[in-house]
Amino acid sequence: MELLYKNLTNYEHIVFDWNGTLLSDVELVLAILNENLTKHKLDTKTVQEFREHFSFPIKDFYLKLGMKNELFEHYQKRYHELYDSQYKSSELYPGTLELIQRLHQTGKKLSILSAAKQEHLHEAVEHFGLRPYMEHVYGVSNNIAEGKSQRGRELLDKVSIAKEKTILVGDTLYDAEVAKFLNIDVLLVADGHQSYEQLLKAKCPILPSRYGSSLY
Ligand SMILES: [Mg+2]
Repeated sequence: MELLYKNLTNYEHIVFDWNGTLLSDVELVLAILNENLTKHKLDTKTVQEFREHFSFPIKDFYLKLGMKNELFEHYQKRYHELYDSQYKSSELYPGTLELIQRLHQTGKKLSILSAAKQEHLHEAVEHFGLRPYMEHVYGVSNNIAEGKSQRGRELLDKVSIAKEKTILVGDTLYDAEVAKFLNIDVLLVADGHQSYEQLLKAKCPILPSRYGSSLY
């Protein structure tokens, strides 16, 4: 986490993505996905395969796995039922709380911007003990991970810090897209929901691992 910390010290407002960036939930997401795939007689995925193929929009990802278009809403509903009842078994990435506390202590403004649903996100951030350190916690109003860019704009409007002093830390190409839309810097960590190879498409700074020693 030292490397991640060092990459953030020049900024005044640090906006974190949630799933795969602060919360280590790839195993849970995959377990629920595999249950869905098995139920519909489709091939299950390994963590590596998931990270190599996971993408947004979520619906396109499901279709690529062979799931049926007309069943998308059903899949999503089932996914959220299972996820919401089990996410507390996941944990923050080791060292996350300490990183957040350290940044907070040095006077940084910290926020969370996520494509998770607002109510769920607030509950989760509270549960994992990060709420006291966060200026703002912004999720979206739907269950299909859409609208993150717009919510990001609303978030930045609330915080009176120059865009040049603001950075988004995320784990997917979606985060890079959001940062581009908001015209702020981005740093991606490649040990979340998408592989390093996938993230290369974003042509932005990437940490192959938040625990690693080199910056690409
Ligand atoms: Mg994420």
